[in-house]
Amino acid sequence: MPVKNYKKQIILVIIILILLIAIGLGYMTYMLNKIEANTYNSINTVVQNDTKNLKTEIINQKAILQSITSYISSVNKVEEEKIFDMYEKSDITSQFIRMAIMTQDGKTITNDGFKVDYSDEVKDFFRDNEIKIFDNKISRIDGEKINIYSQAVNVKDEKVAILLIISTESYKNIFVNNIFESKGFSYIVDNTGNIIVSANIDRGTGTLINNIDNMLVGNSKEKFEKNQNVIESNIENGIAGERILQTSYGKTYMVYEPIGVNGWALVYFIPSSAISGEINQALLLTFIVSIVVILIALIVCIYIVISNNKKQIKLYEYAYIDPVTKKGNIYYLRKYGQEELEKDKKNLYLAILDVNKFKMINKAYGYKVGDEILFGIGVKLREILGDNSIICRYSNDYFSMIFRYENDINALINTIISNIEKLKINDEVYDLSVNLGLYKVQEDDNNISVIMDKAIIAHSLSKGNVFDKFYIYDEKVEKKIEFESKIEQNMETALRKKEFKIYYQPKFNTKEESLYGAEALVRWYHDGEIITPDKFIPLFEKNRFILKLDLYIFEQVCKDLKMWKEKYGKNVVVSINVSRQHFMDEHFLERYLRITTKYGINPNNIDLEITESAAIEEGIDILAIMKRMKEYGFLISIDDFGTGYSSLNMLQDMPIDILKIDKSFVDQIGKSKRNIIDYIINIAKELKLKTIAEGVETKEQRDYLLERKCDIIQGYYYEKPIKEEEFEKYLKD
Ligand code: C2E
Ligand code: CA
Ligand code: CA
Repeated sequence: MPVKNYKKQIILVIIILILLIAIGLGYMTYMLNKIEANTYNSINTVVQNDTKNLKTEIINQKAILQSITSYISSVNKVEEEKIFDMYEKSDITSQFIRMAIMTQDGKTITNDGFKVDYSDEVKDFFRDNEIKIFDNKISRIDGEKINIYSQAVNVKDEKVAILLIISTESYKNIFVNNIFESKGFSYIVDNTGNIIVSANIDRGTGTLINNIDNMLVGNSKEKFEKNQNVIESNIENGIAGERILQTSYGKTYMVYEPIGVNGWALVYFIPSSAISGEINQALLLTFIVSIVVILIALIVCIYIVISNNKKQIKLYEYAYIDPVTKKGNIYYLRKYGQEELEKDKKNLYLAILDVNKFKMINKAYGYKVGDEILFGIGVKLREILGDNSIICRYSNDYFSMIFRYENDINALINTIISNIEKLKINDEVYDLSVNLGLYKVQEDDNNISVIMDKAIIAHSLSKGNVFDKFYIYDEKVEKKIEFESKIEQNMETALRKKEFKIYYQPKFNTKEESLYGAEALVRWYHDGEIITPDKFIPLFEKNRFILKLDLYIFEQVCKDLKMWKEKYGKNVVVSINVSRQHFMDEHFLERYLRITTKYGINPNNIDLEITESAAIEEGIDILAIMKRMKEYGFLISIDDFGTGYSSLNMLQDMPIDILKIDKSFVDQIGKSKRNIIDYIINIAKELKLKTIAEGVETKEQRDYLLERKCDIIQGYYYEKPIKEEEFEKYLKD
């Protein structure tokens, strides 16, 4: 049902939405990971560069010192004036603050004319002749932070140390300016973890570990404390490394790299926001935009689903709902009836109810009230049968109900009928007359259409039921239907196999008791038994097989007539029953005529029996047909006369030859005083028609008919219908 679909679709849309968000989130984390990897790469590139530059610079500076000391040792003489002069004239002065020469007593003179006493530290400077770098010194001239490159050199018996003094701050030059938009910061540390210089002035003192400690936030402090000696020992041993820290700048990458000279290392801290900040923002924006797009799509989807669903409900109503009663229609009945059937067959019923002469109600009250009554019936049926029943109006005033009931079904049906027959709508009571057919579903029932058919049969039988307004489908009906369907299956082959045989019932002139002719009556020889026409003719009239059968009988009769004429030289009149079904077919008479010519039979020898009810049927121009019959030379009888209520006027206009008085009137002879037979015979005389009485069984009847001057007699009194061979004995005589 539509409502179910609706939910399904919404759930589907939500699932798709969740999937899309999950994919978005997955993509985001993937991108972030990628960015993190990139961050490491870019940091590493910076660090590698800086390391190389710093290393080169220190090596260069060492080389400068080396070249000076080599010169001094080669000239073997310390000429201060000359050395300073050389220094000042060279292009290296830009790198250093000043140059100094220290004697072994610690007395130091500088190129710019200062005299400083280093006697307290002199041992450090003269320990050996290697180049040493003293870092984190304070200038004794101006208090500036300085690093000192120093090398002792032997000059004759004397020893001096040559000092190149460099501002510690100058190392900052090697750092890439503006690293990561100034959000990152970096240090040079010595192998004990002391900061030599920091690229960012305000963070430049103390030990590295202290610095880190100050930056850390939350529980990352404790975590770091556990790992800090790893960093310390790595730096001490010249091993590179990296860490991710949670600092007051957020997630921060820490990278350290030994430069390979002097036991120094470069340490960098770059907050992830410095690198991925913008990208993160872009990603976030993308994410938000996608969410908005998805939400819009979702709203559109939901809108489409809802409007589709409305359309579906509309379509569903068109397809399954009867507009008048708001109950189901025939398609509803089939669909949900079938489902109900498949669920469970126990105590399941299908009933069909119709309102008799509903047309009259429409005429009397108008269509609006008519519709209200139909609606009211639907409501009442639902009231009686409950919400689980399936109630449909499947055409005009026909309702069908599928329901389950465990108690007395007859009582329930009586309740339904009595309630509908006194239908109350808005305090108005309508007197209706209804019929109901009921079928109880059996275990082997599987098809709603089959069940419908059975209920329809029960309903049609309820119409002919004198004592009750309803009929419950039973075995007998089923047997009859089975038999009929067997007949229908077999009739075509039976015709081919010539299982249909003609019996002739002779007719006698009343007065002379001489043979007048015969009536051809069909019999069906099937599986060793003879089936009489009352079992199959009505069915053949319904399925129109009678057209083929009658034509066959007609031809057989013509064959027999031809044979009799040749054999006995006698022309007898044979009457043949003509079903009303032929009258729908324009050419049937021509077909009959062609057969008579084929066998050389004079149509005068053939009497076509038409029942009175067929002769007065509305909608057929029977008069025209009869006129043609006469034109071709056939005789015409009105069969079963007296049962069809034809008027004298009608009879007058018809070109008929014989009135065939129905057996029911013959049966009355001797039973009631004034006989209709007299009346019929008189009419016939009036119209100059011959009369024949059928079903004459007693001498009393024959005598009475003789007395009343009925012309011909047919009946068991003389002979029953007999086989052709037997009939021939009447021709011999
Ligand atoms: P029907 O045309 O009224 O035929 C007369 C029926 O009365 C025949 O029944 C006949 O056997 C029966 N009958 C004759 N005399 C007596 C009698 O003294 N007492 C009693 N109780 N019955 C007598 P049957 O042969 O069973 O035929 C039944 C009906 O089937 C016929 O009624 C006719 O309407 C139809 N029928 C028979 N053969 C054909 C046929 O070839 N074509 C068509 N269209 N209908 C046929
Ligand atoms: Ca007849
Ligand atoms: Ca008859």
